[in-house]
Amino acid sequence: MASEIPRPPLPEGPFLVVGLARSGIAAAEALVARGERVYGTDRGSPPGAGRLADLGVELDLNGDGLHLLDGVNCLIKSPGVPQDAPVVAAARERGKVVLGELELGWRLSANRFVAVTGTNGKTTVTEWLGHVFAEAGMPVAVAGNVGTPLASLAAGSDLEATVVCECSSFQLEDSEAFAPEVAVLLNFSPDHLDRHGTLGAYLDAKLRIFASQPPAATAIWDADEPVLAGAEVPGSARRVRYGVDCAAGDCAIRFADGAISDGEGVLIERQDLALAGEHNLRNAMAVAAAALAAGVPRDGVARGLASFAGVAHRLEPVAEIGGVTYVNDSKATNVAAARAALVSFGEGVHAIFGGSLKGERFGDLVPAVTDHCSACYLIGEAAEQLAEDLAPAGVPLHRSGDLATAVADAAAAASPGETVLLAPACASFDAFADYEERGRRFREIVEGLR
Ligand code: ADP
Repeated sequence: MASEIPRPPLPEGPFLVVGLARSGIAAAEALVARGERVYGTDRGSPPGAGRLADLGVELDLNGDGLHLLDGVNCLIKSPGVPQDAPVVAAARERGKVVLGELELGWRLSANRFVAVTGTNGKTTVTEWLGHVFAEAGMPVAVAGNVGTPLASLAAGSDLEATVVCECSSFQLEDSEAFAPEVAVLLNFSPDHLDRHGTLGAYLDAKLRIFASQPPAATAIWDADEPVLAGAEVPGSARRVRYGVDCAAGDCAIRFADGAISDGEGVLIERQDLALAGEHNLRNAMAVAAAALAAGVPRDGVARGLASFAGVAHRLEPVAEIGGVTYVNDSKATNVAAARAALVSFGEGVHAIFGGSLKGERFGDLVPAVTDHCSACYLIGEAAEQLAEDLAPAGVPLHRSGDLATAVADAAAAASPGETVLLAPACASFDAFADYEERGRRFREIVEGLR
């Protein structure tokens, strides 16, 4: 069944795509496929961008793209490009249309959308929903950071498929009319303040996921999320909330007495979920709420909840050596995610923190470090800040320098039954291309301990 939510027409071209990594390339290709005149610019030269020239895209690589502006009517902004990039600022000044790549992908598609945002858990919930649809035998296309970029789904998707897409705040802040049939806001905590400036601006970007939804759509969020309790949730969609215990009694999906239930009864017992941690219990409720709202039958939802094994680099057990378990949570790139990781374990965690800084302090980790850690191993650019902020936790803090030394130090100190956990609470860019490379390196170093 195709979407019944109307899309505004695309602005007139020519188009300038700014930022030519995966999603920018997909946006340029989708526009070319529609016969549009397309230019592309990137301040670097990302792999694969050059091949757009073969499609007739005029490129300005390693440049600012400013000289291309006169010849275009609409700028398509990749999520990685900041609002204050010179070409974006100049385009707005000159009254050109600026659209994000999420908005473009949605306008080009006639499919139904389930959209997922939140500070943490987007990829997990998006992939989990894809799994639930597949388990229920319903056609689905998963778009987002892990899967296919949205714009490349637009052209070829089976109209019967529901598009499940992960939406970052960077994508949402450039959306205009984006109106998914089902939208989910998982949680909200400080992150990306280097890009959004203030917490308020970051929250506004997240809430845009609901802003254009019509009454026939569904807006879903966590009733226990304190920031949302006081926020004005925009849009006119039907509201569905989920939560633990649900004292207020108005949660459609709730966790109580060891099970996740909806209005008709138990969907799944907690012990039947393959993923550990309180945060994954919340993710499971979000998945259940969204899948039911999108028309997946209850038994399919229950099966898909039980059989999902998780996503790599998210609390991923990688080895057990000498009775010590090694867990890769390289994707824990902020304090809230690292905290969620720590509280998923009992005591005896040897935690590796650090990487590059992005404007966040680490004091909120202190209670979880005190309760769950035997020791911490601090690496990268953030090590000094971590040492200062975590000092009140009262556990040994080792300045290990780099990842290999941290793993070696932690392995030497850990006793059987304990856990060595990489949950950096930081971005990876001081030493790695991205969190995936950091996680792969962690796995290799751990394998080398055998
Ligand atoms: P995102 O795509 O939003 O970055 P991921 O699913 O990739 O989210 O997970 C990012 C990190 O956050 C991982 O370390 C994961 O274990 C953790 N995480 C996942 N879900 C939640 C949640 N609901 N609350 C807090 N942390 C979470």
